[in-house]
Amino acid sequence: MLPQVIAAEPALELIGGAGIHPRLSGTDNPSMTASPAPLDFARLPLTPAALANLQLLGYTQMTPIQAASLPIALLGKDLIAQAKTGSGKTAAFALALLANLNARRFAVQAMVLCPTRELADQVTQEIRRLARAEENIKVVTLCGGVALRGQNASLEHGAHIVVGTPGRIMDHLERGHLDLSALNTLVLDEADRMLDMGFFDDIAKVARQCPPERQTLLFSATYPEGIAKLSQQFMRQPQTVKVEAQHEASKIRQRWYQVRDSERLHTVSKVLNHYRPASTLAFCNTKLQCRELVQVLKAQGFSALALYGELEQRERDQVLVQFSNRSCSVLVATDVAARGLDISQLEMVINVDVTPDSEVHIHRIGRTGRADEEGWAISLASMNEMGAVGRIEQLQNVESDWHKVEDLTPASQEPLVPPMVTLQIVGGRKEKIRAGDVLGALTGEAGFTREQVGKINVNEYSTYVALDRRIADEALQKLSAGKVKGKSVRVRLLDDES
Ligand code: ADP
Ligand code: MG
Repeated sequence: MLPQVIAAEPALELIGGAGIHPRLSGTDNPSMTASPAPLDFARLPLTPAALANLQLLGYTQMTPIQAASLPIALLGKDLIAQAKTGSGKTAAFALALLANLNARRFAVQAMVLCPTRELADQVTQEIRRLARAEENIKVVTLCGGVALRGQNASLEHGAHIVVGTPGRIMDHLERGHLDLSALNTLVLDEADRMLDMGFFDDIAKVARQCPPERQTLLFSATYPEGIAKLSQQFMRQPQTVKVEAQHEASKIRQRWYQVRDSERLHTVSKVLNHYRPASTLAFCNTKLQCRELVQVLKAQGFSALALYGELEQRERDQVLVQFSNRSCSVLVATDVAARGLDISQLEMVINVDVTPDSEVHIHRIGRTGRADEEGWAISLASMNEMGAVGRIEQLQNVESDWHKVEDLTPASQEPLVPPMVTLQIVGGRKEKIRAGDVLGALTGEAGFTREQVGKINVNEYSTYVALDRRIADEALQKLSAGKVKGKSVRVRLLDDES
């Protein structure tokens, strides 16, 4: 049977991406006061506690993909949902699986398959935030790179929800650690990326071990062929919803520069010196180009890190932490490596190479100009990329705004330095360190202010703290000499050589 397609479109164009516009809140419009506005979460059959929690999280309205998919998912129907990265897909399935869950029943009732550990971690965090309203709901993350034994112990303590990568979940199933007989909801998140990574067979095996009458939700940024194959095998009459990849034009300012291939990488540093964005995601078409760009940027004194497929998990974690906490100015990435990552506060996206796939261009530039912020999307194109530029113009239905490389004059003679520095503490969740402990140590005895401390990421074995660059050395000394949670800790500053 053919999936039914419901496209959520023009009415939602005003909103664009994950950005929520306060202007649209229902009560502003007198004709809508009788029933909740179209994007109001109160339209959904959610508990008052869940609605209140959404308010607390600052989720004042549904994003377009949430508005399109939640009514269907909450009815228990199978669903294929397609929307670009950053559009709020996680909450779209998380609210549905939480609504299906009985906290008093100690069995795995929902499972989310994700392509990578960091995506699984992001999903787990979002589910935990959304589950806060309910009773004690246990979410366990099952990914590779960590001993099976500890994960098994967590499962034995009772888990309501399991989030993990297909490979590791297979391992647990094969060892009999994971009982899926009570599963209500199976979610395939970032399905396109899981297919890219060759997980089809693992997904198939895992799905076959789930009860046949379960609900299956499939989320994806793009819709490659393999998705139809997945859905035919594992889904029951799925409905399809899709939010077109359009952005609110005014929030992303796009400019194009024509370059010769030989000057492309140096033009990136001219762009950075001219616009001076605090955080930039630079896309290259190949890994090799990523590496070369990072070298060029570093040689010129920028703080830049590369993200590409083959990094070890620990390296990837550190790169992402440093970029997202604003202690690295430029993250240079391939499309595959950057897919699905939720990075907020991105002032600029640079298309170092033009992508041959115009949809990918839309996904790339949609990383900036989120929420109420504006963003720059700067693209470099050589003569032989003009065909691809034409296709992008067609898809976006706007003419490219060309500027001259000569106009890229430095806005300052000072080097572009990230505002923060990352301090690593050896010890993380396993040592029961919490963000509050670290913040306490820094603002208590060490005497720093809350404003001088940025994002704190507590990982399994390490904790990363963003510090105002100006206090970093002093904080390092004080923490080395002092204590966190009553214990001495080993600390070091990460620079972009690590
Ligand atoms: P996707 O999976 O589509 O890439 P995410 O689920 O990671 O997107 O969501 C992107 C960001 O938007 C997250 O930081 C999330 O907390 C936020 N978000 C999701 N839904 C809402 C909402 N209704 N209102 C405000 N922010 C939201
Ligand atoms: Mg996602």
